[in-house]
Amino acid sequence: MNYFGRVNKKYLIFWIIFISIILLAEIGLQVYFLVNKNSLSLPALNSTTLIDSPAKIEQKVFGYSAKGSPINGYEIGNGSDVVLLIGAIHGNELGSAYLLDQLVLEIKADPRLVSRSKKLIIIPVVNPDGYAVSNKLNGAGVNLNLNFDTTGWANYGPLGTYAGPNPFSEPESQVIKKVVEQYKPILMISYHTAGGIVSPEDGEQSAVLGKWYSGKTGYVYFDDAVAAAENVDWDFSGTATMWFVESVAKPAITVELTDHNRGDWSINKSALIQLIFSEGVPVD
Ligand SMILES: [Zn+2]
Repeated sequence: MNYFGRVNKKYLIFWIIFISIILLAEIGLQVYFLVNKNSLSLPALNSTTLIDSPAKIEQKVFGYSAKGSPINGYEIGNGSDVVLLIGAIHGNELGSAYLLDQLVLEIKADPRLVSRSKKLIIIPVVNPDGYAVSNKLNGAGVNLNLNFDTTGWANYGPLGTYAGPNPFSEPESQVIKKVVEQYKPILMISYHTAGGIVSPEDGEQSAVLGKWYSGKTGYVYFDDAVAAAENVDWDFSGTATMWFVESVAKPAITVELTDHNRGDWSINKSALIQLIFSEGVPVD
C-alpha cells in the first residue's frame, strides 16, 4: 500500500464517523420534532389517561329518516359530561357534515383525542334524505330545523320554511329528541352553512358559549342585537337549538361555517379540541 492509499483509508474512516454523527443527529431531531408536534396540539397526558380503559369510539345508528335511511352517528369517550354536535339538519349544507366527519377521522387517527371527562355524541347528517340529493328539506318536504316543539311554533309556509304538520312530526327531529333525553347533553352545537357566524340561543349560558366559540374561530358573534341592527328576522321558532334550551335549560349555539361545501376544519379545530378536553362548558 502506498502513501496515498494509507491517507485515503484514514480519510475514509474519518468520513464514516462524520456521516454517522450527522445521521444520528438528524434522527434525533426528527424524533424530537415528532414528539413535540404531537404534544403541542394536545394537552399533557396525565396518569389516568394512560392507565384508563381503552378509548371508546362507537359508531351507531340513532334512528331512521322519513324515507328509511339510517341516521348514523358516533358515541366517543367514557366521560359523564355529554356534548352533542349535529350537522346537515339542512341536507344541502354539506360542509357541516364534512366538518363533523373530519372530527371523527381525527379522533380515530389519534385516540388521545378521546376525552376521559367528556362524551361526544356526533351526528354528522341529521337529514340523510335531503343530504343524498343536496336538498335542504327532509324526504317529506319539511324543514327539520323548524319541526321542534318550542314556544311560538308555527308551520310557516312554502319556499323551504314548511315546519311540518305539527311539532316532532318528523322521524329525524324525534331522533334528536330521543338522543337528548337519553344522553342529557350539557351543551349542543348545531352546524349549518354558510354565513361565518355563531348565533347563540337566548340566555346567558348560550351567550357565554357563543362568545367563546366566536373568539376561537373568528366567526362573527351574531345575537339578537346584531340581527336587530341589521334588520334581519333571525328568530324562527321550532329550531333544534331553541327546543334544546327550552326543554333542558342548557346552552346551545348555531354555528354557520363559511362555505356550503367546505368544512372549515382548520378554523374549528382548536375550538373542538378545547371542547373535548375542557371541564364542562368551555368559557375562555
Ligand atoms: Zn341550515
